[in-house]
Amino acid sequence: MDFDIKTNEKGNLSIGGADAIELTEKYNTPLYVIDETKIRDNYRRVYESFSSHYNDFKIFYACKANTNLAVMRILEQEGSGIDAVSPGEIYTALLAGFEAERIIYTGNNVTNEELKFAVDSGVIINLDSISALKRLSKLTDPKKVKISFRINPKVGAGHHEHCITGGDLSKFGVMEEEAADVYSMAKDLGFTPVGIHTHIGSGILDPEPFMLAVETLMDVTGRVHEEAGVKFEFIDFGGGLGIPYETEESKLDIEKFSKEITGLFKDKLNEYNLGKPTMCIEPGRYIVGDASVLLTKVNTIKQSYRKFAGVDAGFNTLLRPSMYGSYHHIVVANKPEAENTQKIDIAGNVCESGDLFARDRPMPEINEGDTLAILNAGAYAFSMSSQYNSRPKTMEILIKDGESEIIREREIFADVLAKQNVPIRLLK
Ligand code: PLP
Repeated sequence: MDFDIKTNEKGNLSIGGADAIELTEKYNTPLYVIDETKIRDNYRRVYESFSSHYNDFKIFYACKANTNLAVMRILEQEGSGIDAVSPGEIYTALLAGFEAERIIYTGNNVTNEELKFAVDSGVIINLDSISALKRLSKLTDPKKVKISFRINPKVGAGHHEHCITGGDLSKFGVMEEEAADVYSMAKDLGFTPVGIHTHIGSGILDPEPFMLAVETLMDVTGRVHEEAGVKFEFIDFGGGLGIPYETEESKLDIEKFSKEITGLFKDKLNEYNLGKPTMCIEPGRYIVGDASVLLTKVNTIKQSYRKFAGVDAGFNTLLRPSMYGSYHHIVVANKPEAENTQKIDIAGNVCESGDLFARDRPMPEINEGDTLAILNAGAYAFSMSSQYNSRPKTMEILIKDGESEIIREREIFADVLAKQNVPIRLLK
């Protein structure tokens, strides 16, 4: 099992040196606990291994995985850029201190207002369609914006069909066969395209499809260079680097992965005379996924047709199990080393049958009052949470050297109601 489960001298789960149970006593549950050191270590592992093989290398953290400003500040301090997919993420990244030139905006099905926002923000605009290109050319002076195109390299991969973003079923990107024409069209419209991009999917633990995408994108880049005369400042292979969620999965061998990718990249640069552009990747999950734990308290043990442990979080707090059927390893935070003695369903508190964190999960004895720690809850976790069932969103805390700080307050009912408006005629 490639998970980092530490028990302290009290027999409780330790998260970055903090006692999980003491945290729940201080902050209540459900509670997202983020370990700052892990984020920094994950970032540095990727950065150092890739840049040791190719020194003009940049990471653009895919902030959709976790947009908390404190998390983004950590990555800003580490030297990351940002992959933003919406005006809201651009706004957040700018607020977190990232300069516009360190932000790539990869929208899809973008409106003119969104394009205008990106132009006014000064970020690099990664276009997803000819439609967006044409509309952008009418919104701004093409000489004033840096653009690239997202290419669909025909290959896709990911932990779930919803997370596969390349291939013939995907809504994303420009078809690779059309790439040279699209770049020529951009030049005819007065743009000077500077980059090329792809992102084939999320949660990839097998390097093979990623390598295939790199190879295809490099061949497309070579063609665009030759046929459309584009000089590339950057080539961006997107994110997708997976982390183990299931106990039998292993961590990506980043050293091997980076060596193979950069090797292929350099060979293709030579083959097509592409000079020395910046090599970029956009990991989200890999940077923050294993850096956070969701703590939730068991309030109900119920034996009906099946045995259930009912907890105070639900798919409003962590959607992945319900949305993708994703496995998240769960330990009892007040006895993380206890042996499994039963199979049990772990159910949330949302009024939906699909609100399950685990079905038939081998677990130790669980009692009301125990705290469960749902591991690997740092990516696509809080950022996908909702107020469904009129439940205020939960709290996030950051751990550094065993000390905790609140980085997002727990919402209250007023937050759920904040933007509602009842017409006066309905008040009578
Ligand atoms: N880049 C783009 C354009 C994406 O759409 C995504 C995720 O959907 C990512 C990067 C990050 O993916 P991951 O978190 O799997 O690394």
